Amino acid sequence: MIDRGYYGRFGGAYLPEILVATFDELVDTFENAKSDPAFWKEYTDIMSTYSCRPTPLSFAENLTGHFQGARFFIKREDLNHTGAHKANNVMGQGLLVKRMGKSRVIAETGAGQHGVATATMAAKFGFECTIYMGEVDVERQRPNVFWMERLGAEVIPVREGARILKDAINEAFRDWVTNMDTTHYVLGTVCGPHPFPEMVAYFQSIIGKEARRQILEREARLPTRIYACVGGGSNAMGIFSGFFDDPVELVGVEAAGQGLESGQHAARLSSEDASIGVAQGYKTYFLQDNDGQMKETHSVAAGLDYVGVSPILANLKETGRVRFEAATDREVVDAMSLTMQKEGLIPALESAHAFAQAFKEAPTLSKEEIVLINQSGRGDKDIFTVADAFADPKWQEFIKNKAEAYHA
Ligand SMILES: *Cc1c(COP(=O)(O)O)cnc(C)c1O
Repeated sequence: MIDRGYYGRFGGAYLPEILVATFDELVDTFENAKSDPAFWKEYTDIMSTYSCRPTPLSFAENLTGHFQGARFFIKREDLNHTGAHKANNVMGQGLLVKRMGKSRVIAETGAGQHGVATATMAAKFGFECTIYMGEVDVERQRPNVFWMERLGAEVIPVREGARILKDAINEAFRDWVTNMDTTHYVLGTVCGPHPFPEMVAYFQSIIGKEARRQILEREARLPTRIYACVGGGSNAMGIFSGFFDDPVELVGVEAAGQGLESGQHAARLSSEDASIGVAQGYKTYFLQDNDGQMKETHSVAAGLDYVGVSPILANLKETGRVRFEAATDREVVDAMSLTMQKEGLIPALESAHAFAQAFKEAPTLSKEEIVLINQSGRGDKDIFTVADAFADPKWQEFIKNKAEAYHA
């Protein structure tokens, strides 16, 4: 098992003995599905009738005019059902759950977006659904908890440890060990033990396949550079994988939070602060101290606030195929403002990291060049987080009045 799923010196499957059979079943199901031409068709059919695939490629004419340099194009993953590329992964895994004949799904979630996407998929396919979430996150992310519960999922607040994402992951694994005959664990990104990185990248590859075809149709040439934000790395892998064999520069953008020197960030591949370790069943760069204790991470974008990173991307950093940069909270909020006002698009705070880095580099590009940005999700669904990031006083007044109305 251990020798499978390695990317250079990263990845693997470091599993408790009891889960080995379940992982073997998942690997077999995935391999069979992948080699069955009907499966990709079944997947693209459901994505085109239930989510909004193919998502459009938008020419950002006003941003292009503003920077007076490269032509800007935006891949619109924000138009997926539930508002982000996460739908690509959960719907794909849902089809595998049906193939395995299982009836229950579990997931862990930090900010709640993967939880909402999983609960949506479970409702659609008729699966029972349990979502593990740190108690602190349950308190911070009430709107997403509200939706998960309305969609029919059970949300279990995890009271162990620091009561955040990593504790929810441990709890989800505990559930899986107990219920593996009926239950599939829907991992949310290109991390975790094999086959999850490969499997999630496979479903997200739909982004890059579409984008490559779309840009060639429209411009009759490839982009110069592609930017994508990197939390676990799934939307980045999705768009990048369409262009690995092309002479296209690929740029992954992590969260620099309050600044790399502040220590308040989630820059694993773009800073010197992370080191290689094994945790949560796989080997990659983690933000950890010398004893292997995970550090606190910070980002204005909850979806990028993660201690580990995809083993596939860790390897692509080592081979030099992908360049990694980081954008600060401040740069991200500014980039989001500019994009809203110039294009009428509302990128998620996560996606705005990709925009921020592209804007920083725009002055060095010429008019012949093409920049492609992956807008992984939309910001309007996260109005509470976005309004906080903008520190809008009128919004704060509105919330205060609403709270007072409840008390009256
Ligand atoms: C969850 C999320 C991310 C981060 O996840 P990746 O696996 O790195 O793609 C990025 N953007 C949006 C909108 C998200 O919801």
